[in-house]
Amino acid sequence: MTAPEASFSERLAGYEPVIGLEVHAQLLTRTKLFCSCANRFGDPPNTRVCPVCVGLPGALPVLSREAVTLAMKAALATHCTVQGESIWARKNYFYPDLPKCYQISQYEKPLALEGWVEIPSPAGEPRRVRLQRIHMEVDAGKLLHEVFPWSGEKSGVDLNRSGVPLIEMVTHPDLRSPEDAFEYLSALKAILRYTEASDCNMEEGSLRCDANVSVRRRGAGALGTRTEIKNLNSFRHVARALEHEIARQVALIESGGEVVQETRLWDAERGETAPMRSKEEAHDYRYFPEPDLAPLRIGDEWIEEVRGTLPELPVERRLRFVDEYDLPDYDAGVLTQSRAVADYFEAVARESGNAKAASNWVMNEVLRKLKEDDVGLEACGVTPQGLGELVGLIEKSTISGTIAKNVFEKMWASGEGPGTIVEREGLAQVSDEGALQATVAEVVAANPEQVAAYRGGKKAAIGWFVGQVMKKTAGRANPRVVNELLRKSLDSDA
Ligand code: ADP
Ligand code: MG
Ligand code: ZN
Repeated sequence: MTAPEASFSERLAGYEPVIGLEVHAQLLTRTKLFCSCANRFGDPPNTRVCPVCVGLPGALPVLSREAVTLAMKAALATHCTVQGESIWARKNYFYPDLPKCYQISQYEKPLALEGWVEIPSPAGEPRRVRLQRIHMEVDAGKLLHEVFPWSGEKSGVDLNRSGVPLIEMVTHPDLRSPEDAFEYLSALKAILRYTEASDCNMEEGSLRCDANVSVRRRGAGALGTRTEIKNLNSFRHVARALEHEIARQVALIESGGEVVQETRLWDAERGETAPMRSKEEAHDYRYFPEPDLAPLRIGDEWIEEVRGTLPELPVERRLRFVDEYDLPDYDAGVLTQSRAVADYFEAVARESGNAKAASNWVMNEVLRKLKEDDVGLEACGVTPQGLGELVGLIEKSTISGTIAKNVFEKMWASGEGPGTIVEREGLAQVSDEGALQATVAEVVAANPEQVAAYRGGKKAAIGWFVGQVMKKTAGRANPRVVNELLRKSLDSDA
């Protein structure tokens, strides 16, 4: 008798994926790395160019101090060691978006070495994903294949992006699943945005990721042969591409084949990777030191000065939120994903004096509305003071939670404060017994059958009565007071 064949997912589980990511992030400088052209997205093609960034012969590069400062911020925020000396190198290759035929980069001596980024892990304790290196380089231009009437016959070249400063951040092969990769990218993006080193806008290409992946049998020590996947333009695509590539490699090995070290392209529409180039045709970039630029020397003083400007980072802030506001770790994670949201939450918490309520409102209402309207916090019409005041109104029982949701929608639409809306629309909760007694009596008188049922022992019917009074008062009656009045009326007349 032969054993039944294991399903593919069972066989897949016998392998461990190993992943390393290379992330390119555009730095948020005013100018390009080696010239004074503006670093800005979205201008008409070739309107932000000069002899330096289009690579005219004889034009000399001048390094932007701002770019180095931002790169150092990213390095220090990821616990890397900024090197006292790094060397600019020419990386030579031909491509139509690179008129110089070389990219100025760093190779043997990069800006920073050996750091880490912390990611949450399913088991609880956060894990460190180690960074190998961070180096600086210029971006290339962009080919435009689709936007012009003559597209289809030929392609355009836009050099506005040519010369824009990038940092490349390379991890050790420390990631073990597509989810890990997703968590790492989220954590890295949060850090780069907190430090304002990069806006990490993937649609605009300010953050790009290549993923290296291999598989090995669980328990095996040596790493398997890896492939590198390019063309990943969202975190979801990184995770999906990795899932696909892991399954492809396992299927290949299980069928007696061997993984070939190669670069593969992710095709989002077909949901698969396809070979782009193999190691044999791999580029030889013929790196050599850039003769037009002196080595970059960074003294301790400058490093400490930059370190001093670092804000509280996402991981620290998350821990502090758990500690200081007594929030669940999950909530603290959501609230600290962006610095603006974290600042907003803290302002609401301060204003209202109730951090738990502030957290619920920001997470459930503010973030939901921002997503619905597809806008950032800067476009939010509800100020933290306004929301804090709204939370305060619920605390003081001036309005009910249900009415508050309503008021919030109006605040969002009009930008008015909650006090103004509550007053103008007469939404304040009625807790006054005298004012509510008439309505309670009315409801009791109009429903003899329900009254009989209640008095016959169906005490749960009280909820139905409360509902009737709430309806008649358009939700403004204080349910606690209504409850008391109803009990008095129903129990005493028996
Ligand atoms: P290259 O010089 O070809 O870019 P590197 O050695 O610098 O190669 O590695 C690039 C990336 O690939 C790094 O993020 C590294 O962690 C990752 N990597 C290296 N070996 C493996 C492997 N066997 N499996 C998965 N990832 C790997
Ligand atoms: Mg590489
Ligand atoms: Zn320029």
